Amino acid sequence: MARIVMKFGGTSVADLDRIKNVARHVKREVDAGHEVAVVVSAMSGKTNELVGWVQNTPKVVGASSPFYDAREYDAIVASGEQVTSGLLAIALQAMDVNARSWQGWQIPIRTDNAHGAARILEIDGSEMIKRMGEGQVAVIAGFQGLGPDNRIATLGRGGSDTSAVAIAAAVKADRCDIYTDVDGVYTTDPRIVPQARRLKKIAFEEMLEMASLGAKVLQVRSVELAMVHKVRTFVRSSFEDPDAPGMGDFLNPPGTLICDEEEIVEQEVVTGIAYAKDEAQISLRRLADRPGVSAAIFGPLAENHINVDMIVQNISEDGSKTDMTFTVPSGDVEKAIKVLGEHKDSIGYDVVQNEAGLVKVSVIGIGMRSHAGVAATAFKALADKGINIKAITTSEIKISILIDGPYAELAVRTLHSCYGLDKN
Ligand code: ADP
Ligand code: ASP
Ligand code: MG
Repeated sequence: MARIVMKFGGTSVADLDRIKNVARHVKREVDAGHEVAVVVSAMSGKTNELVGWVQNTPKVVGASSPFYDAREYDAIVASGEQVTSGLLAIALQAMDVNARSWQGWQIPIRTDNAHGAARILEIDGSEMIKRMGEGQVAVIAGFQGLGPDNRIATLGRGGSDTSAVAIAAAVKADRCDIYTDVDGVYTTDPRIVPQARRLKKIAFEEMLEMASLGAKVLQVRSVELAMVHKVRTFVRSSFEDPDAPGMGDFLNPPGTLICDEEEIVEQEVVTGIAYAKDEAQISLRRLADRPGVSAAIFGPLAENHINVDMIVQNISEDGSKTDMTFTVPSGDVEKAIKVLGEHKDSIGYDVVQNEAGLVKVSVIGIGMRSHAGVAATAFKALADKGINIKAITTSEIKISILIDGPYAELAVRTLHSCYGLDKN
């Protein structure tokens, strides 16, 4: 007997039939004698709809500012998960499984005060552990917790993954199963590259890079928590027959295991390709080449919560003027230009230029640490397809390349095949 946390994403609970199917997955594990906690997302599309309502309200009421209270945003968008937690509890009860729903505040899942993108600080798992010991299944609304101001706080888009891993750590679960609409983590998004291969295992560090660089199959924070708390996390499909052979295999469930790199025997040089759309590039032309200029640019941007990613600075020929180019999410361009304009005098640049609609494609693999030539292979493959590179950043285990938006899919497919990742 073990303790398992099972998480079901939006498409897995998209309607009552899907919820019934989820209940069958849960019942399978309960019938096998395991203690089970379940974390659910909102029905697919629901959170987008709720966010849309929030964003439109100031316009509709004719408010002078498009901004709104982030605490009310949370009160509204957290409601999707409340519905699915209750519905799944009812579906389980109808199958004679002892179950009840839990909202974040009832556990409680304590978060910080960053409404809309809160971080989990602490979870009291004692009551859940006690009840699981008595045979009750906890059906927990994902994506939400309780802030220090005693109000609902949400964890950022895709945050139910993080709820699940954090709960698994809090109740010391033997396993955390993330059920979704694909049957594991692939070498790249299988919806873009049908030749993508499912990985049996992927190292925490690689999954962290894949998630941060755009593979939305897991929220970044969930991978960090799994890595820190050593939560045995599997990504698997809810779309398979819950009672198909092997589905209840405890040691070797179908799907992808996120694990320590030591557990991976055959490490490839490149593990996967990720991509992130909607990047924008901002260039400051003819900056003074002097100490403090970077601080003068990036300090105010950080204070305004603008997330800067790739940074490229030219070396000036005569030590006087240089250019600085960096990327931000497309949605932040206007704000960034405004902030830069406000600090024009202290920064000291000539003109600012920007270009939105760019894409960042990334090659990820722990094996890169000990292999030369990985970047050169990518550059050659992209050049052969006529894809222009606008910026490059690298770390020990990844290479990120900024390109024009319309080339995204071609670039992902090209990189995927140039490292031999296509399935035969
Ligand atoms: P859920 O609603 O279950 O949380 P998401 O839509 O958030 O599901 O994440 C699953 C999706 O992630 C898949 O449908 C797939 O298109 C996408 N995805 C992107 N990159 C990968 C990858 N490398 N492996 C698997 N899925 C990926
Ligand atoms: N429902 C939330 C979202 O769509 C959380 C999640 O699905 O993980 O972002
Ligand atoms: Mg998700």
